[in-house]
Amino acid sequence: GKTLAFLGLGAMGWPMAGHLARRAGETGGHTLVWNRTREKAGAHAREFGSEAVELSGVAGADVVFTCLPTSAEVDGMLGELEGTLRPGTIWVDCTSGHPEAARRQAERLSERGVTFLDAPVSGGTAGARAGRLTVMVGGDAGALNAVRDDFAFAGTVVHVGGVGAGFAVKAVNNALLAVTLWATGEGLAALARGGVNLGAALEVINASSGRSNASQNLIGQRVLTREFPATFGLGLLAKDAGIAADVVRGAGASAPVLMQVEALTRAAATLIGPEVDHTAALRLIERMNAVELR
Ligand code: NDP
Repeated sequence: GKTLAFLGLGAMGWPMAGHLARRAGETGGHTLVWNRTREKAGAHAREFGSEAVELSGVAGADVVFTCLPTSAEVDGMLGELEGTLRPGTIWVDCTSGHPEAARRQAERLSERGVTFLDAPVSGGTAGARAGRLTVMVGGDAGALNAVRDDFAFAGTVVHVGGVGAGFAVKAVNNALLAVTLWATGEGLAALARGGVNLGAALEVINASSGRSNASQNLIGQRVLTREFPATFGLGLLAKDAGIAADVVRGAGASAPVLMQVEALTRAAATLIGPEVDHTAALRLIERMNAVELR
């Protein structure tokens, strides 16, 4: 069987690597796990039967997965590992990273015979636990075909273009998440100020053409309940909106709404905090309107 390594056992990486380990148990493969905070890797090994390793132990892997906050942390890991990786290794970066970083990283690794695929994911922690993530992949199609069966955490895998295209699509996807979340929050705040019952408003919007994942799932389950369970950090959403703005600028495109949502999510992350759940961005809209969305 193949040896897969997974670096970064955070909210997403933990369940994703869990699926790799479960699959390896069935196919006679190996799943090596590494995490900056070591204890998490040991706990992962106990829970899923993966093997916790030192960074030096990653060198022999056939496939190296990373899922870290940003491309900057991936650069850090790359610097530590690049001298040790074998030619033929495929590096699959599941971080929601930056397309320009992907192109630099792919270039750097290709000098060692290592292929880089940007492979960010969508579906949240629930999708990761269920093994139903959507993966958008940029890079060499042949390399993707060589590792496609290793994506035990995936429901849908789509090759979207060359190196960096996966990160670009992910950034636009998350900018759309930010737009629908923010705009639906604005609409509900206006309705609340006008005395409309928000449960009823959301119910009818969800049976109408204004519905979105934000209206159908996020706002009802996380905002109106006042629970804001932290599964995807607001700082990470602001980071993604910033990458989307770079993608817009880099393409010479005109996209004023997408550019606005970078500033809005950035302001929310600054004022409300980067570590809170992304849905808590609506607390800023609440302050702007002196209402509570409940
Ligand atoms: P978390 O903050 O939960 O986890 C971050 C992981 O990165 C941890 O394992 C952390 O290690 C590690 N890490 C942080 N800094 C460093 C560093 N300098 N060197 C090495 N390791 C480091 O993040 P998520 O799992 O939520 O997100 C990971 C990526 O996935 C992000 O790019 C995010 O945008 C994206 N994403 C997140 C989704 C979600 O719903 N949460 C959904 C889809 C994509 P340690 O344990 O030591 O802190």
